[in-house]
Amino acid sequence: MDVLEKSLQILREYPLCDSCLGRLYAQMGYAVENWERGAAIKTLLHMQLVTQFRQGADVKNDLVSLAKVHKPTRRFLQGIGTEVEGVLCYVCGGLLTDVEKHAREAAKHVGDIDFETFAVGTTIPSDVLKREAEVVSKFLITTGEPIKHEINRRIGKEMLKLLTGKRVDKLRPNIVVRIDLLTGKVTVVRNPLLVEGKYLKLSRRVAQTKRFGSVKTTLLEKLRYVGNIFGGSEHVIHVSGREDSDVRMLGPGRPLVVEVKQPIRYRGHVPPLVDEEVIFTPVGFTTREEVRRLKEKAKVDIKLYRALVYSERPLAAEDLGKMVELSGKIINQYTPRRIKRLHPRRKRTRMVYELAWRLISAHMFELFVRCQGGLYVKEFIHGDGGRTTPSVAEVLNSYLEVLELDVLSVE
Ligand SMILES: [Zn+2]
Repeated sequence: MDVLEKSLQILREYPLCDSCLGRLYAQMGYAVENWERGAAIKTLLHMQLVTQFRQGADVKNDLVSLAKVHKPTRRFLQGIGTEVEGVLCYVCGGLLTDVEKHAREAAKHVGDIDFETFAVGTTIPSDVLKREAEVVSKFLITTGEPIKHEINRRIGKEMLKLLTGKRVDKLRPNIVVRIDLLTGKVTVVRNPLLVEGKYLKLSRRVAQTKRFGSVKTTLLEKLRYVGNIFGGSEHVIHVSGREDSDVRMLGPGRPLVVEVKQPIRYRGHVPPLVDEEVIFTPVGFTTREEVRRLKEKAKVDIKLYRALVYSERPLAAEDLGKMVELSGKIINQYTPRRIKRLHPRRKRTRMVYELAWRLISAHMFELFVRCQGGLYVKEFIHGDGGRTTPSVAEVLNSYLEVLELDVLSVE
């Protein structure tokens, strides 16, 4: 059956606007918008029916069906004394006539945001979708496209026209413009910005996020300036692993991502932060997947620590030599006493790859530990009252205290 005959059959049952009729043949010929297709079909039908009518054929009912959704046919019938009222489209109810007006409304809502990419999301009334499905299944249409496609495409196109210099990015847009077609309500979702970098912590009084005890400040507070650059409402940090507030983070630094929530600007330069306590070196923007990978990676990282240890029992160089037996050992640790209140008692096993040391005095030595990420290093040294085994304290048979601890590298 050809397009014209099929279209006439459809219009006999359902009044359809140009867009909704044309959309049934959307896959036939590109670079034509659905309303152009639909208008062309109606014009051809008009020519065909008027010709047949003049030749005396009984096509009046078909002319009336067409006239309900086609102005020229209404004018023709009026000329021969038959008045026909135009009716709303059965599928969209007139929604598609100027769907671009929603784009114009939406464009007003993004005026004060400095962004580069956007995506459009629309909520379409469910009865429209239901009626579309009805027509498609009744006439076995296999050449159409969903109404949602047409609406999103037309609104997106109009937005591009109105917002010069912006791009559509469906995967990772800066902002998402949501339009509810039933109520006409527009909401703009400002996606977070993720700024990746590395930090060094030179002070023993800086925590990652929370102040407590002798902590002077936090990484989170120090990095507020990043959020301010983009005019964010709030910022959070994602760190690959963690160190205690009294542990310095030295060497090449640890990866960290600042998440700026609801930014007003999506462009800007982040200068490095350098003060006596913290150094932050930004690398660039990153993605949510990368943040996930970064956090996952912290579990398998290899870390190198340096500790300054006090021993109650006086030690000689030969005593320290005993620590060689800890290299390559798997360490069993129950949740340390110091954090037990926050976390349930759980057992953790981590590998210690290598140890190196230097005796400073009979009661003091420096210890280097190369181990798997996640090892509670302080507990590995002092034994945590037997909750960590084996431990340095156990091997040296002494009460040990960790005076200083630094992360020297994260591999
Ligand atoms: Zn329609």
